[in-house]
Amino acid sequence: MTEMRTLKVALLGCGNVGAQVARILIEDADALAARTGARLELSGIAVRNVNSKRDVELPQELFTTDAETLVKDADLVIELMGGIEPARTLILSALTNGACVVTGNKALLAQDGPTLYEAADKAGVQLSFEAAVAGAIPILRPIRDSLSGDRITRVLGIVNGTTNFILDQMDSTGAQFADALAEAQRLGYAEADPTADVEGHDAAAKAAILATLSFHTRFALDNVHCEGITSVTAADIAAAKDAGFVIKLLAIAEKLADAEGNDGVSVRVHPTLLPREHPLAAVRGAFNAVFIEAENAGELMFYGQGAGGTPTASAVLGDLVSAARRLVLGGPQRTETTTGHVPALPIDASVTSYYIGLDVADQPGVLARIAQLFAGNGVSIETMRQTIHRDAESNVESAELRIVTHRASEAALAATVEAVKGLDVINSVTSVLRVEGV
Ligand code: NAP
Repeated sequence: MTEMRTLKVALLGCGNVGAQVARILIEDADALAARTGARLELSGIAVRNVNSKRDVELPQELFTTDAETLVKDADLVIELMGGIEPARTLILSALTNGACVVTGNKALLAQDGPTLYEAADKAGVQLSFEAAVAGAIPILRPIRDSLSGDRITRVLGIVNGTTNFILDQMDSTGAQFADALAEAQRLGYAEADPTADVEGHDAAAKAAILATLSFHTRFALDNVHCEGITSVTAADIAAAKDAGFVIKLLAIAEKLADAEGNDGVSVRVHPTLLPREHPLAAVRGAFNAVFIEAENAGELMFYGQGAGGTPTASAVLGDLVSAARRLVLGGPQRTETTTGHVPALPIDASVTSYYIGLDVADQPGVLARIAQLFAGNGVSIETMRQTIHRDAESNVESAELRIVTHRASEAALAATVEAVKGLDVINSVTSVLRVEGV
């Protein structure tokens, strides 16, 4: 029997995810070798402090602070340090040296993905990053491989567990945002500084990656319109619930035609109303899910744990085995294809349905005036519901209007809302939220 080849694996980072990757590489070495056709030898682990206590007991001699030297000698490099530098320099150095790279670093990919993709293509090696989007959920490989014979038209993703937990908490308990965030922090679902999650930055990085693979065009973070969930109120959630919707923070990438009828891709992250019967509405707590619409496959949904050391390590190991198999078998390695050439559309050109809450004077003819104003701005109304309130002190009646529109452009909606504000019968515009799945 011929001796099995050994591939050297350098691990950069041994935190939540890295420690679990190291554990699996050591514990499951025989099974991984059988699946790969080569032994995957963990040649070293680069960290900042070699003496830090780790979640997993690992041989001390594997640890080093000299990441540069470790990378030079590796066939496969796993980057799980996070951040932009030194991760970027180390990944570029690994790719240039001919090593395949596996990373979970969505922040780096969203900021400078094109540089990394080009370096991988130039060196003819594989750069894989399944763990960068939706943790354990196999989503990038299905988009890249399984759906490569189809045309994806739209991707809707719940790709940030922290914000999904907070919104779910607000929906199920009626809590305000600040209280739901405090609960998420208490349970370890949100960090002490939750900015990257609640402002939508983490989801935006993942939206850029999903759009890049789905539409065969390189999109970066500045192509993504991003709104977080900090301004979502308990009243918004209650009104949405009352109207049969749930509010989710969605990462959306969809093919649309621009004003001249040319194809473009709208990539955006914002709080979104979904009908409660939509499959994504059932995604509770800190779970993630990605819903894909493709021309031939129709609708698909991928669901699972979007974070956590062990679930994310599963995605990293999947990429590692796949890259190692290709090293064993030979043949060209491709990160992604860039044959799409579809431009990113500005947010004004995005097209969706809207939910608008209005506090209006309870007078005859108000509904007709509002409907006329919407029609005059090219926005057609799908449903309009009215609830009457009487102020206990003044005894004055006002009406709350909840309007759901048909699909309209962001620009047309913005013009409509501005015009509505100018009507003398409008007390206030209480909410304007985008709606998907109707
Ligand atoms: P983490 O717990 O903060 O661990 C980071 C590790 O990298 C630590 O071991 C740290 O060393 C090491 N490190 C950081 N800067 C370094 C430097 N300059 N030189 C050498 N080593 C350095 O991070 P994590 O949660 O495992 O996340 C790792 C990556 O996976 C990130 O890109 C993250 O976005 C991504 N990811 C994480 C999850 C998740 O659930 N955690 C899910 C999906 C993707 P010390 O231990 O010595 O400080």
